[in-house]
Amino acid sequence: MINNRTSRLAALASSVLVALSSATLHAEEVQIKTQKLDDNIYVLFGRGGNIAAHVGEQGTYIIDDQFAKLAPQIKAALKELNPNAAEFVINTHYHGDHTGGNEVFAQAGAHVIAHHNVHKRLQEKHGEGSDFLPRLSFGQDMTLHFNGEHARLVHFAHAHTDGDAVVFFDDANIVHMGDIYFNLGGLPFVDVDGGGSVDGVLNAVQSVIDSIGDDTQVIPGHGPMSNKAGLKTYHALITKAKGMMLDAIKQHKTLEAVLEADPLGPLEIEYAGWLPKERVTTLFYRSLTGEIN
Ligand SMILES: [Zn+2]
Repeated sequence: MINNRTSRLAALASSVLVALSSATLHAEEVQIKTQKLDDNIYVLFGRGGNIAAHVGEQGTYIIDDQFAKLAPQIKAALKELNPNAAEFVINTHYHGDHTGGNEVFAQAGAHVIAHHNVHKRLQEKHGEGSDFLPRLSFGQDMTLHFNGEHARLVHFAHAHTDGDAVVFFDDANIVHMGDIYFNLGGLPFVDVDGGGSVDGVLNAVQSVIDSIGDDTQVIPGHGPMSNKAGLKTYHALITKAKGMMLDAIKQHKTLEAVLEADPLGPLEIEYAGWLPKERVTTLFYRSLTGEIN
């Protein structure tokens, strides 16, 4: 299923694949790389969704936690920043490559925070009472007052999933987008079965573009650090793809005929092994036609 392409793009993209099949994950092969963003905030790149760590006088909290198998490496990387265990874990959405460490961190004393729909979906997956579930869940927004920062967790409806949260560190001028932003040079994975939609992604991205500055540091769910210009490029690409898809849907009607017409072909973008063009085309089709089965 994974193409052994050598480009950085494919390497990053295939890390997302492992998200979806953690059984293939060999923790010993994964290096956690820490990048400092400001005095208190770091981003940790490993396998799965990018982790942000907020470290300060009161302790540490993190945004997303990748996979359970990586928890020892993640904890070790966090310990280099601060000796205290994580007090809180914020989940940007329910996917396993962002919530896989929840149980391990919860059992070490952290309180997991996420949108109500993340709680609902993890409850369906792991059962009531599981330590994978958030202990605190919210609807539209929530603010975490810790380490002198007032981190705003803001829900964007039906974007990558139905439980996405973007985390704004206003004082630090940093934002964590979760998987609303795949910074891999291609189109996003829109989890239609998880309540996501193309228009929701576009709305969320535009809303963040409108609320940040040119110098705001943007942490994507996957891929390297970015900024407002990167978000604009991403938004433009998705908008272009949406237009091509709508034209093809109008002309060809059925999914089979649209796939045959290959409307996204002219974009000439690279696709990950786990998210080939046919799958992106299908997800965009289902989202844009409202056919979610
Ligand atoms: Zn995701």
